[in-house]
Amino acid sequence: MTTMEETTAKPHIRQTQLLIDGQWRDAQSGKTFTTFDPSTEAPITEVAYAGPEDVDLAVAAARQAFDHGPWSRMDARDRGRIMYRLAELVEQNLEELAALETWDNGKPIRDSRAADLPLVVDCLRYYAGWADKIQGQTIPIRGDYFCYSRREPVGVCGQIIPWNFPLLMVAWKWGPALAMGCTIVMKPAEQTPLTCLRLGELALEAGVPPGVINILPGFGDTGAAIVRHRDVDKIAFTGSTETGRIIMREAAETLKRVTFELGGKSPNIVFADADLDAAIDGAEFGLFFNQGQCCCAGSRLFVERKVHAEFVKRVVEKAQSRQLGDPFHPETTQGPQVDEEQFRKIMDYIERGKRAGAECVTGGQRLGDRGWYIEPTVFDHVSDDMDIAREEIFGPVMSILPFDDLDEVVERGNQTMYGLAAAVWTRDAAKAHHVAHRLRAGTVWINCYDVFDAAAPFGGFKASGIGRELGEIALANYTEPKTVTMKLG
Ligand code: NAP
Ligand code: MG
Repeated sequence: MTTMEETTAKPHIRQTQLLIDGQWRDAQSGKTFTTFDPSTEAPITEVAYAGPEDVDLAVAAARQAFDHGPWSRMDARDRGRIMYRLAELVEQNLEELAALETWDNGKPIRDSRAADLPLVVDCLRYYAGWADKIQGQTIPIRGDYFCYSRREPVGVCGQIIPWNFPLLMVAWKWGPALAMGCTIVMKPAEQTPLTCLRLGELALEAGVPPGVINILPGFGDTGAAIVRHRDVDKIAFTGSTETGRIIMREAAETLKRVTFELGGKSPNIVFADADLDAAIDGAEFGLFFNQGQCCCAGSRLFVERKVHAEFVKRVVEKAQSRQLGDPFHPETTQGPQVDEEQFRKIMDYIERGKRAGAECVTGGQRLGDRGWYIEPTVFDHVSDDMDIAREEIFGPVMSILPFDDLDEVVERGNQTMYGLAAAVWTRDAAKAHHVAHRLRAGTVWINCYDVFDAAAPFGGFKASGIGRELGEIALANYTEPKTVTMKLG
């Protein structure tokens, strides 16, 4: 453990190759790409870049492992035991994985340690527990028949994930797929391949058989080759709504099953009768956590006009008290954005907000000239039609929108193509639930924000996605139901 003054040491990088059929290999083309440290812009290491030939090999291995291998036919208790072992290995290597995540992504080490990694462990354990609890039904049908249902694994799953919670997104995808007995071809994001590769190594150590988990670092073209492949049965994708649309179109060709977790523009609604201290903490955390790089960020902060002036003053103080700096320092609460592209996109939104007439009450600038740091930024008097109130910024930029009454705020809250999350702050429990029921969002938090648990489903209405992750419901994403009917007598 570190003392409060000590900065964590960078871990040794153990894996940078592709994982195919239980073997670590270079790309067939020999190509590699560089992954960078967002806090210094310095290269960390070269990683193998999977091309279409590697996708073919990985899908063939996953197909073989699914059709003939032990995984889908293994005693479900043994499958569960291997998954529990993986969770245990993650726990044993938590410090290393947390440091690797912080290095590759830029997130503060205190978050990697206290948020990302514990959630990864919980998710793997939660789904390990499901492995031997997958059961069908007996179905009374007309006539002299015995009819029952089975829940079979969907097959080879292509899983494509983003860079904002690199390892946690792996756990959300692997957990239900492995519990059901599916096999996996995963593509981590180009910005953050390292923790996924290390988890692949731990999976082999835990006893996951060759071919069950294949990992292909690369870019969008690697993902696209997985989506197009005829031997892939299902695609699970987390990322931008734009890429989600492209994948859905491509997947139509082979009628693959698809689940999506896409963007958001979540309303965070503070009524005047709320516990303001808690609401201000929740507004800060709900937006600035993870440098604002959260699909469920509370990026439209609706504040009832009666408390608006006081709220803005206090939330600005909170924003200004955030500790920006070296993500490896234990007191840092805000690191850099993940890369230059994201940095530029966010700075452009800040300029658009100013030009549209919103009032930038704090922040709005880059911090320093090395690393992709952006000051915590708060815009007040934002109106619904401004780009900063309509589009996903994915950065540390808060937009405050005053409102006057309940019906108005519900209507404005729902006026978006997204529907991922929402929050309501009030001491009136009945009002809280009325509003929660009327908001068109997959998750509504009341008097809290960003409360995640492996048992609680998460996902979006409308353009925020298709299907839900986490909880029992996510097993359905990896299931093909089968009906078996036998004539009696
Ligand atoms: P993205 O393009 O949607 O990337 C997500 C994943 O999809 C990455 O692994 C990406 O590969 C891959 N990909 C890209 N094009 C593909 C294609 N045609 N077929 C298959 N896979 C493909 O997101 P991004 O460019 O990293 O970020 C852009 C914006 O998306 C952000 O500013 C933010 O608004 C949103 N976003 C949302 C989430 C979320 O949690 N919902 C997460 C991240 C970003 P590469 O590694 O080459 O990109
Ligand atoms: Mg990186």
